[in-house]
Amino acid sequence: MDQIGLKRKEKIDSLYLTIERGFLVKGRKVVIPSIESGVCRYCGKKSPDVCFKTEAHAFPGFIGNNSLFSSDECDSCNELFSRIIEDDLANYMGVARTLKRIRGRNKIPKYKPPNGTLEISADHSSIDIRSSREEGNVTRDLDQKTITITSPRLPYVPMAVFKCFVKMAIAVLPKNELLHLRHLCDWIVQERHQVYYKPLKIIKQSLTGPVKYDVISYYLLKRKHHGDMVPYLQFVIIFAGEIYQLPLPIPDMDYYLDGKEFEVTLFPYPTLSVDHVDKYGSVGCQVIDLTSPELVVGDELKMVMHFDELLNL
Ligand SMILES: [Zn+2]
Repeated sequence: MDQIGLKRKEKIDSLYLTIERGFLVKGRKVVIPSIESGVCRYCGKKSPDVCFKTEAHAFPGFIGNNSLFSSDECDSCNELFSRIIEDDLANYMGVARTLKRIRGRNKIPKYKPPNGTLEISADHSSIDIRSSREEGNVTRDLDQKTITITSPRLPYVPMAVFKCFVKMAIAVLPKNELLHLRHLCDWIVQERHQVYYKPLKIIKQSLTGPVKYDVISYYLLKRKHHGDMVPYLQFVIIFAGEIYQLPLPIPDMDYYLDGKEFEVTLFPYPTLSVDHVDKYGSVGCQVIDLTSPELVVGDELKMVMHFDELLNL
C-alpha cells in the first residue's frame, strides 16, 4: 500500500472496528446463513407466507458476483429488488460494465445504446469499439494513448442506486447489528422512492491504470466510540478497480451528527502498490449525491481508457 493509503488505514483503524469483511473467490460458493431460519431478513415475513426457492445473490450478479448468496432473502424481495433497485444500478454503471470487463452471470455484457451507432464488446484481452465518426462519442488521443468514450446512460433513479448498495450492506450484516438497521430494511422494500434520509452520498474512488487483482471485496466498519464525529456504520465494496464507500443512514445512532459537518476518511485501496501509483497516478475520488427519488433521463457517462495498442479495422 502507498503512504497515503497507510495513513488512511491508520485513521480508519483508530475510529472503526471492521465487523465484517469478505473476498469473493470465483468458483467458490458461499451462502450467508439465515439470521432467523425461515424469516426474510429484509421484509421480516415468515415461511409459509413467503418462499425461499430462488437462489438469491447477496450482491447483484451483474457486478461480477457469482459466489456470494443469501439464504434468507425471500422470493418476493428477490423479485422486488431486481425490479426496483438493481436495474437502476446496472443502468447507472452503463458502459463501465463492458469497459471494465465485469463478467455478469455468464459473460461480459455487450454495450449498445438505443438509437446510436456505438457498439462496444470486450473479452479478457481486448475491447472492440465500433462507432460512426460523426457520432462524436468516441475521441482518440494518440499521443496520450487514450480513448474517451461518452455514452448515454439508460434512465435510473439516484435513490434506487443508493438503496442497492444499502441492500448489499444488509445482506452481509451480522445479526446483532440488524436491529439498528430495521428502518433501512423497511425503506428499501418500499416500491415508491421517498426521501426519508438525506443527503444520500456515496464516495467513489477509481483506480487509474489496469486492475491487477479483480476480486470483489467488502467491509463493514462500525464506529468504536459513541460521540466521535463519524458515522456509526459504513459499508465499503470494491470491484472492477472501484471503491464505493457509503455511510449508512442510521439516525438513532447518529443523532448528534445531524446538521453538523463531519469528515469521512477515504478507504484505502488495499492492493495499490507504490509502483502502480508511480506509473499511473493515484486513485481518483468523487462524491456522488444520490438523494433524488426522481428518474434521471439523458444522463451521460464519460470514461477515459488508456490503451497499449490501437487496431483500426
Ligand atoms: Zn422478503
